[in-house]
Amino acid sequence: MRILACGIVLAGVVASLPSAFAQAPAIDWKKQEAEILRYYRALVQINSSNPPGNETAVVEYLKKVLEAEGIPTQTFALEPSRANLVARLKGNGSKRPILIFAHTDVVGVQREKWPVDPFGAVLQDGYIWGRGTADDKDKLAANLMVMLLLKRSGAALDRDVIFLAEPGEEGTPRVGINFMVEQHFPEIEAEFALTEGGGATLEGGRVSVVQIATAEKVPRRVRLVAKGTSGHASRPRLDNALVHLSAAVSKLGTWVTPMRLNETTQAYFEGLARISPPEKAARYKGLTNPQQTDAIQRYLAEYEPNHYSMLRTSISPTILKAGFRENVIPSEAEATLDIRALPDEDIARFHEAMQRIIADPAVTIEPLAGDLRPASPPSRLDTEMFRALERVSQRLYPGSTTLPEMGTGATDMAQLRAKGVQCYGIGPAATDDDRINYGAHSDVERLPESSLYRFVEFTWSAVTEVALSK
Ligand SMILES: [Zn+2]
Repeated sequence: MRILACGIVLAGVVASLPSAFAQAPAIDWKKQEAEILRYYRALVQINSSNPPGNETAVVEYLKKVLEAEGIPTQTFALEPSRANLVARLKGNGSKRPILIFAHTDVVGVQREKWPVDPFGAVLQDGYIWGRGTADDKDKLAANLMVMLLLKRSGAALDRDVIFLAEPGEEGTPRVGINFMVEQHFPEIEAEFALTEGGGATLEGGRVSVVQIATAEKVPRRVRLVAKGTSGHASRPRLDNALVHLSAAVSKLGTWVTPMRLNETTQAYFEGLARISPPEKAARYKGLTNPQQTDAIQRYLAEYEPNHYSMLRTSISPTILKAGFRENVIPSEAEATLDIRALPDEDIARFHEAMQRIIADPAVTIEPLAGDLRPASPPSRLDTEMFRALERVSQRLYPGSTTLPEMGTGATDMAQLRAKGVQCYGIGPAATDDDRINYGAHSDVERLPESSLYRFVEFTWSAVTEVALSK
């Protein structure tokens, strides 16, 4: 079905606007709401739970919508049921492209735990409920709408705008971002990329903080292995593998790893100090004060574990395996440690430091292979895109503060950052309650309807500010 361009008026020359915005097509956002909601609900209603994913069903839908408006698409699939979709609006080539991307898969559901049909995209109490409403079909719908609006406006672009819908973000990036980066990078190569990872905090009906994700920690899991002599449990042994392992896990689990700030986290804590009540602000400011930092870090470890983690390469013991019979001393015991490294961590040196903390030759550290994301430097804060995001945040959410953030988890931005793309994670506005209790991966995932529309406008504004011909 062809959807007619409605609600778009070319603004032309408006003398009072700064020149950067002069050519942006003005959109009547109220008139776009029904269409945005239609795409968003349709996307949520396609069950793309990973595993198995079946993201090609989402790709078929996107392809139909884009091509109906004359936007050509290409698909790239490592596995037929798990296709990537790329669409490109051409600019004049004077500047490098912008990539807007979102993942098409969602995590699975336990249906019996849901108060509504998880794939119903049910509208209730001002929210849209369902798996993927906050992760990541909101960004997918926003990116789709930006492409359609740009195409309909006929606006001249300095930069290509590339749309990527990628499968497999939830644990199988080999079919998605890895495949695209390793085998089809020219199709998505860009100076800047926008995707999930950030957000905006709603407090008392207004947005107080806009978070832009500019860096992330790197998962670097290891196994600790302790070896000893097996034997009858009635004769205790000094080299009992279990005892040696337990001591090592305890030492590493309580080790206060060195604190180190980077450009993103420094700007983050400074910004946070500016907008926090005095007692909190003093803590964030005192982090680099040698007299105060230990006590402050201890406080954060207890009350703000996310902030504690942002300051350092962190270690969380997660799995223990040892023993099989109560009267047998096992010859081997092992533990898994989930290490989340700072982006610039020298992991070999970090392992050496761990070995010194363990101080026990019976225990060795073995890096775990896996679907690892590469280490990637933080994206810069002095780019045209980051500045545009700050301006757009101010315009759409007046009085808000924009903070760059380093995520403690991992996203598909890592692979792109490692290729030199400056990536920024954004997201719709939600209250802390929404995010903590109704957020991504929860059994009651939902998004405020009004936040969805505002987020589409946010994405559109950021893309047009940076991509349109000036
Ligand atoms: Zn996601």
